[in-house]
Amino acid sequence: MSDTQPSANGSSHYLEPDEQTELLKRGLVRVSIAAAGIDPLLDKRLNELRRALRADAPVHLLGELLPDLERAVLAADQNRQQRATETTRALQELIEQLQECDPPKEVARSLRELDRQLNELADLPRQLPAWLAELQRLQRQTLQQEQPSSGGLWSRLLGRKERAEQVAAPDSEIDAADDTPLASAPEPAPEATVSMESVPSGNISGEEQHFSQLAAHIESILLRLLTELQVLESQQNARDQLRDQVSKGLNWYELTAVLDSLCELVLGAQQSRQADFERYLQQLNQRLSQFQGNLEDAQSSYSGSLDAERELAGTIRGQVELINDNVRAADDLNTLKANVETRLNSLLENIDQARALRDQRDNEVAERLSTMVERIQVMELEAQTFRRHLEEQRQQAMIDNLTGLANRNGLQRRMDEEFERWQRYGGRLLLVVLDVDHFKSINDRFGHLAGDKVLRLIAQQLSRRLRKTDFIGRFGGEEFVILMPGISPEQGAVALEELREGIAGTPFHFKNEPVPVTISIGFTEFMPNDSLDSTFDRADKAMYQAKEQGRNRVVHAANP
Ligand code: GH3
Ligand code: MG
Ligand code: MG
Repeated sequence: MSDTQPSANGSSHYLEPDEQTELLKRGLVRVSIAAAGIDPLLDKRLNELRRALRADAPVHLLGELLPDLERAVLAADQNRQQRATETTRALQELIEQLQECDPPKEVARSLRELDRQLNELADLPRQLPAWLAELQRLQRQTLQQEQPSSGGLWSRLLGRKERAEQVAAPDSEIDAADDTPLASAPEPAPEATVSMESVPSGNISGEEQHFSQLAAHIESILLRLLTELQVLESQQNARDQLRDQVSKGLNWYELTAVLDSLCELVLGAQQSRQADFERYLQQLNQRLSQFQGNLEDAQSSYSGSLDAERELAGTIRGQVELINDNVRAADDLNTLKANVETRLNSLLENIDQARALRDQRDNEVAERLSTMVERIQVMELEAQTFRRHLEEQRQQAMIDNLTGLANRNGLQRRMDEEFERWQRYGGRLLLVVLDVDHFKSINDRFGHLAGDKVLRLIAQQLSRRLRKTDFIGRFGGEEFVILMPGISPEQGAVALEELREGIAGTPFHFKNEPVPVTISIGFTEFMPNDSLDSTFDRADKAMYQAKEQGRNRVVHAANP
């Protein structure tokens, strides 16, 4: 770099050393600003440098910053190269995927050209936008072409790579249903097999082939659905037929029809349950209005009998007054006797009539009341049935079908309840997050049905090994959550360690091949000021630490 600087009139003059340093510092600040955003570590070092420059730090202090800065520049460059390699690889895969979609000839040619350019893109970031725009154009052309036999839904969903190694590998002959792991109890749900023998070979379309790889898994899901689906009596035949059809095996072409029928069943059941409920409400309404009518009748009978009694009292008073008059006016005993007798008889008659009328009214009221009581009993019974029905449905919505444990809903509810209880009454409460290690590779090696089976077995092991007061739920996928009330973290650590060892030592076998299954566990204790979320977060992070530390271990997140 030159130590001269053009002056305003174009001539040059030598700078004083101070001026030189100042100029260099200013230049460095600008360069450091221009280089910001390339890499976080580099940004940090540049920041330090800028701060030192702006604070007019002595040159030797600046010099001390340089080795770190140099290292950061080197690391940033390496990162950049690595990112560029990864980006190039990802872009190459994109091109390959498009090439597998049998694009039109000219698109295929352009794709090859794009692939070639990719290897030569020396300055990737700058040239990337134009390159991507071209790829987007080619992708649109490829996807727009009408090729029902090779570009269908399944192909796009699953990627069109032939998974020949999966079909041919000896592991893929696993039949999950045949293999009962030594520690397993009887299975709760019926199972389909993952036997790969059903995979057809030869010239079949992409959809069929991909479907046949997944058919067993789809069949087992459909069978489970059809078994657990609550249908109406009128739908039971249709449901059984559909189940038979699915259990005999599906091919790609039947799938849509089966899904349609299933959809009809579900909607039918749903609608009729809704209609049932509406009918019940209408009935209830009718009964209530009858009930109200009865009450009104009883009320008017009662007031009617009050009127009658008042009338009777008036009549009696009138008769007694007449007798009094007769007594006062009487001058011979026999006439008086006859008159009084007549009056008394008519009085007794009136009283008898009134009593008969009252008895009749009382009977009527009693009858109405007993009818009302009966109706109330019927209504109560119906309401109970409906309440039970609703409760069953609510419970069902909180159970995970695969493992029989609480699902995410059920778990959330229980966590809320336990948390509230803990807040109100205190005590100890541990929250545990548990994740199966390398579960994806179990699925990949042995198939999804085998994976499902492992999940069920783990759920059984958890239920068996934990205390009655502990609560286990499936948080989702291969992740479980446990709430352990009433124990200290030290006791929890011992119990969870045993649990971990128990799972790791459980001989899971498929086709006589041992399948190692381990779990990583993170846990923490609820502490004052904790929220449910913050506690969960802590346990979750501890679980990830267990993964980072090599999996198959228990990590306790001490409280902050
Ligand atoms: P890690 O040790 O880091 O936890 O690795 P992992 O493979 O277990 O984790 P990842 O999250 O990569 O994969 C979890 C897999 O679990 C992916 C998903 O396909 C599978 N999975 C989720 N739910 C189910 C299920 O119900 N049945 C089966 N068979 N697989 C499932
Ligand atoms: Mg996992
Ligand atoms: Mg997971």
